[in-house]
Amino acid sequence: MQPKLDMTHDPKLKSWVDSANDPQGDFPIQNLPFGIFREKGSKQAPRGGVAIGDKIFDLAALGMKTGPTLNGLAAAGRPAWSSLRALLSETLSNPKHAKKFAKALVPMKKAELFLPMAIGDYSDFYTGIYHAENAGRMFRPDNPLLPNYHWVPIGYHGRASSVVVSGTPVIRPNGQTKAPDAPAPVVGPSKRLDFELELGYVIGPGNKLGKPVPIAKALDHVFGVTLFNDWSARDLQAWEYQPLGPFLAKSFASTMSPWIVTMEALAPFRCAAFKRAEGAPAPLPYLANAADQREGGYEIEMEMYLKSAKMREQKLPAMRLARSNFRHAYWTVAQVVTHQASSGCNMQPGDLLGSGTISGPDRESLGSMLELTLGGKTPITLPSGEMRAFLEDGDEVIQRSRCVREGYASIGFGEATGVIKPAPKI
Ligand code: CA
Repeated sequence: MQPKLDMTHDPKLKSWVDSANDPQGDFPIQNLPFGIFREKGSKQAPRGGVAIGDKIFDLAALGMKTGPTLNGLAAAGRPAWSSLRALLSETLSNPKHAKKFAKALVPMKKAELFLPMAIGDYSDFYTGIYHAENAGRMFRPDNPLLPNYHWVPIGYHGRASSVVVSGTPVIRPNGQTKAPDAPAPVVGPSKRLDFELELGYVIGPGNKLGKPVPIAKALDHVFGVTLFNDWSARDLQAWEYQPLGPFLAKSFASTMSPWIVTMEALAPFRCAAFKRAEGAPAPLPYLANAADQREGGYEIEMEMYLKSAKMREQKLPAMRLARSNFRHAYWTVAQVVTHQASSGCNMQPGDLLGSGTISGPDRESLGSMLELTLGGKTPITLPSGEMRAFLEDGDEVIQRSRCVREGYASIGFGEATGVIKPAPKI
């Protein structure tokens, strides 16, 4: 069920694209993530490419016509992905190809990147148990985790149309809010705008309506992983969420990174699934699989940074707000996919499943302002001297991720960024 390690993961492998051999870089020859691009300022049709060092390799040079999305490639399935990965690895590592393919490289600085998928449907899960506990504690101090948490991967259907690619401005939402002591709600700009540190799972081949996905086969349906920031308006959320869950508080923008890091590229960074606490129930049989428990987790460092307008003016570096790790996800990628399909719900190539906010157990690893500032009560001081309880207009939020493991080449995800713009008049 898991992609296997092969020569494409060899840490000694180098590329004839020099910048790909920088050990600090995100895109060495062992990564090979897919995206959709065109040359900046051109009227070219957007097309598929692979990130290599500070360049993009045009898939058209291998005779591949992806069209303006990667849905076709996602639908092709693991045997096709693996042979394409082997071909890319050989093409970009063997110096004998350098001359022939040098023209197929576009500098990233000169490229415009697009949302890599046409996303038909998007669900967001809640697999970060520390986030679930922290958020739950604010509402229910004595009983932060609802009893269903240990049994069912909690999720809701999100809004696919407002998923945007990194760099897209995020317009502060207007909405209804109601102070606890106010007799009636008001409508206006959200005052408690937040980010959520998540990853997105991009679905490859789908499943037919009515046909569940056995957990041993779940990863065959996952093309790869992206960064994902599920922007959230906490004040709108608090008023609107009962009894049907999040709605407009989470459908004004969700930022995705442009590069899809494949499950093949992530294979060296597998780890055991989250270790449940003593006395916590075991997953029900359809979510239980020995191999998935043994190696269905992933060690992926997850970081969120903030840079205010004033910090940009003063040329201060972005401040790191959070450093967590995907190994803190309570449910594995395979469990989430299997659960989504368990009722017979059909997934389609390009669908997106969000992990939920992946906070860790300590202060440095909290994946939202809600947790970092205890709901706004303990604001953060920025290097510019400004205070932040929640996000202000002009703030840029920058998400990054990296996989590091002894004996393997480190790989990165690039960035998912967004600058907050003021709310329009309502
Ligand atoms: Ca979320």
